Amino acid sequence: DLPLARCHGAVLAGDLVSPINVPPHANSAMDGIGLRSDDLAAGRWQLVGEVLAGQPRSEPVLAGQAVQIMTGAPLPPGVDTVVMREETRLDGEWVSVSAPVKAGQNVRQAGEDLALGAVAIAAGTRLGAPQLGLAASLGQARLSVRAPLKVALFSTGDEVQAPGETLAPGHIFDSNRFTLMALIAGAGCEVMDLGIIPDDPVILRQQLAQAAADTDLVLSSGGVSVGNADFIKQVLAELGQIAFWRIQMRPGRPLAFGKLGQTPFFGLPGNPVAAMICFLQFVEPAIARLQGRVWQPLRLSALAEQQMKSRPGRTEFLRGIFHQDASGVLRVRTTGPQGSGILSSMSDANCLIEIVPAQPAIAVGERVWIHPLQGRVA
Ligand code: AMP
Ligand code: MG
Repeated sequence: DLPLARCHGAVLAGDLVSPINVPPHANSAMDGIGLRSDDLAAGRWQLVGEVLAGQPRSEPVLAGQAVQIMTGAPLPPGVDTVVMREETRLDGEWVSVSAPVKAGQNVRQAGEDLALGAVAIAAGTRLGAPQLGLAASLGQARLSVRAPLKVALFSTGDEVQAPGETLAPGHIFDSNRFTLMALIAGAGCEVMDLGIIPDDPVILRQQLAQAAADTDLVLSSGGVSVGNADFIKQVLAELGQIAFWRIQMRPGRPLAFGKLGQTPFFGLPGNPVAAMICFLQFVEPAIARLQGRVWQPLRLSALAEQQMKSRPGRTEFLRGIFHQDASGVLRVRTTGPQGSGILSSMSDANCLIEIVPAQPAIAVGERVWIHPLQGRVA
């Protein structure tokens, strides 16, 4: 278990059962006067004291009596009804009311927020701000959380170089490892960064086997197409099982998935945009499942501000910018050129636009699905 202040983003291991009633005592929801509901007919009561939050009064309030009571203050014995100050009239030590009073009004009952023994946070919940506050309100200084999933990550390609180096002719900088490390960490996992691996089946085999033995999930990028230096599929078939390696999606058609022993493996495409979209569509949901979380990406309907199209038979994920107009309607346009290597399209986007095979052409004003990226690529 971990101290509460270090639990942000972790996944709760077991149900958190409330050890107390919240609130612990019946208390006043208003600043006003506290009365007995069996004594409302009196019409006029003698003030016998004042109850502040944090200062309970143990002395009972009798018929004919009332107390001044502040918001959050526990009800003294006998009191079960509160009249807000604005509806009372003071006359020396006597008080009367100027509005109808209902028995039990303006009272927060003990356990009204959470009853003793109730499940406050279910196992498998990712701990965000509200959950941390809820746990604190129950007096929990520590929580039992699942160990973060360990995810191995490497880039492949003889032409791929780490940023900071001098770029050799015909080479490119490795961007995938940085987008993917951020996405993995954002999903609450621990990253094991294995760097860049050359297009060499012997080295790939050795690295994949080692990564699978050391981690819960293995990700690579590049080397999954049908080029002469694309060895990921071959090595996956040798070491484990290929479940699929091509999908009717763009960008991201070459996506290999399989198992290395018991460890799931995703061979993501090398193209930077394709790698990110495959992560969002396949890896992020898989991580949620491995974490034991119930999660579904948000998909919203928006009106197209321009024509859009996809190749027949494929699901196309365009990079989009959506906004909400003055009447609350979502409207979306693309970020511009949509090549699968154009990483700036991803950087400009705040959503993916899903063009489904059943409707490959979208006219201006037609509805399209969008997948907001807020909170997913942060
Ligand atoms: P591949 O599937 O290995 O043929 O890669 C497809 C395209 O993505 C090629 O243009 C590669 O140069 C490029 N690419 C591969 N890996 C990376 C990477 N880590 N960062 C940026 N681009 C990459
Ligand atoms: Mg390659």
